[in-house]
Amino acid sequence: MNPYSIYTPQDRKVAYFSMEVGLQPEIPTYSGGLGILAGDTLKSFADLSVPAIGVTLLYTKGYFHQEIDSDGNQIEVPVEWDPSNFMTLLTEKVTVDIEGRSVLVQAWVYPVKGITGYTVPVLFLDTNLAANEPEDREISAYLYGGDERYRLKQEVVLGFGGAHMLQILDHDNLQAYHMNEGHAALLTLELMDRYQQDLDKVKALCVFTTHTPVPAGHDTFDVDTVRDVLRDRFHFEDLGHSNIIDTDGRLNMTYLALYHAEYINGVAQKHGEISQKMFPEYRIDAITNGIHIRTWICDSMAAVLDSHIPNWRQDSYALRNALDIPRVEIWEAHQAAKRELFDFIEAQYGISMDPDVLTIGFARRAAAYKRATLLLRDTERLKKIASRSGRLQILYSGKAHPADAEGKALIQEIHQAGGQLNDDIKMVYIPNYDMYRAKFLVSGVDIWLNTPMRPLEASGTSGMKAAANGVVNFSVLDGWWIEGYIEGVTGWSIGPRRVKTETGPAIHDVRETSAAYDALDADDLYGKLEHQILPCFYEDRSRWMNMMAYNIALNGSFFNTHRMVAQYVLEAYFQ
Ligand SMILES: *Cc1c(COP(=O)(O)O)cnc(C)c1O
Repeated sequence: MNPYSIYTPQDRKVAYFSMEVGLQPEIPTYSGGLGILAGDTLKSFADLSVPAIGVTLLYTKGYFHQEIDSDGNQIEVPVEWDPSNFMTLLTEKVTVDIEGRSVLVQAWVYPVKGITGYTVPVLFLDTNLAANEPEDREISAYLYGGDERYRLKQEVVLGFGGAHMLQILDHDNLQAYHMNEGHAALLTLELMDRYQQDLDKVKALCVFTTHTPVPAGHDTFDVDTVRDVLRDRFHFEDLGHSNIIDTDGRLNMTYLALYHAEYINGVAQKHGEISQKMFPEYRIDAITNGIHIRTWICDSMAAVLDSHIPNWRQDSYALRNALDIPRVEIWEAHQAAKRELFDFIEAQYGISMDPDVLTIGFARRAAAYKRATLLLRDTERLKKIASRSGRLQILYSGKAHPADAEGKALIQEIHQAGGQLNDDIKMVYIPNYDMYRAKFLVSGVDIWLNTPMRPLEASGTSGMKAAANGVVNFSVLDGWWIEGYIEGVTGWSIGPRRVKTETGPAIHDVRETSAAYDALDADDLYGKLEHQILPCFYEDRSRWMNMMAYNIALNGSFFNTHRMVAQYVLEAYFQ
């Protein structure tokens, strides 16, 4: 019997395509927020019995394991993992044409089990078959590895291979193909061929979520490379008028997806507006991201919720009742999480932290626009603030993409600043930021700091994880935080609400304009830390504990993937 038949393919209505998926820490097929969001979305599909199926690539060599040497250099260690520990290999195979060769693709299925037992299968596509040429066997080996041609081949497997695999697995009732970012956009060409170039029919099937105003986040490929890889499947020369082929002669995957999708959205309200300006010829909606609550709430807080809000795992909205929980229970659950985090740090790195000291956490991909070093811009001022109004500890974590020299330099800079702070402020850079460490961090620190250049943080999700755990956010007004902050109630903002930015096709300009705000933002950050945050933490603990409860109640109950998935179902999938 085909083990896959237990998923009753004819019932499936939504196919969710994502280049990366983060389901559990042991499966290294994600690099950051995009993948975690995909994993959390699939989990909420399962919890809410949304008849969906996920499609991604396997990455047998995963995304790298990060070590940091004593000079602050990032060392990338390959990871190997065995999919058969988590997934079942299907017997069905499809072929995709790459550079004129037929490349065989197989699929592993991972069952995402929902809280009621409803299961959403996720297909992990894999080209590592003996029948393939050695270089083709490597196509699904590395996440975000290799050159442009390698990446394009991966997108051929994801888009064409994925759509074809769904077809031979008898998914003939699909009503929505959701492209989580443009990486899967080639599937639109597969659908155009399948439906005799009936654009309206294809558009009615396609949903596209764009995730970033950062130019590097929008895949483009040299057209000659595309022609060479796709051969006779390349027949959209006439789509130049839609920007699918840009003025530099590059295939733009974002425009390919935009052109073929009826429903298009950004991932927070502000990001929807920015995207609308970037792509004025399309109608762009916004659905704010979320997190899968059950995945991200730490054990000690889960125990408190269990005793006061028994249905919180099924019903994320029920978290609003957190206002009824005695504050001391929330505080003690948080302190338990903090001790666990510190025990982990002590055991792993031999550094002891003090659980009574206000601890700031900053953990995310080390990408320049996230401005990880803003907090360290004036270490003398930071030391003075810490000595005057209390004490301070700082935890950093985050990987730089292997090809991102700027990101790696940031890690070194933080490392060096740590040396300057050493005696006054204890600071640790925790290597290898992953789902496992993220959960420790978002629940165990007291303040979750985020300092992106506006408006480049499309949404951000780690702050939502912190909020659901009662951890207070301190963030630049960008992405989800514009919607989540109530000053002095759920946390604190950094810098002004609006900055003058250029958008439109010149998305490169956004960053340059925002850089002028570094000094302003840093000043505001230091001022609030000194005059509001430290005094509140050390001298007005009851107010602090109230803020923790407000975070769970106001932000945990809204910024979750249950709410988000419900919006996709209502607004995008079944229209
Ligand atoms: C949640 C998460 C992210 C995304 O966090 P952002 O705030 O969006 O940067 C990245 N990496 C890991 C491991 C995460 O758990």
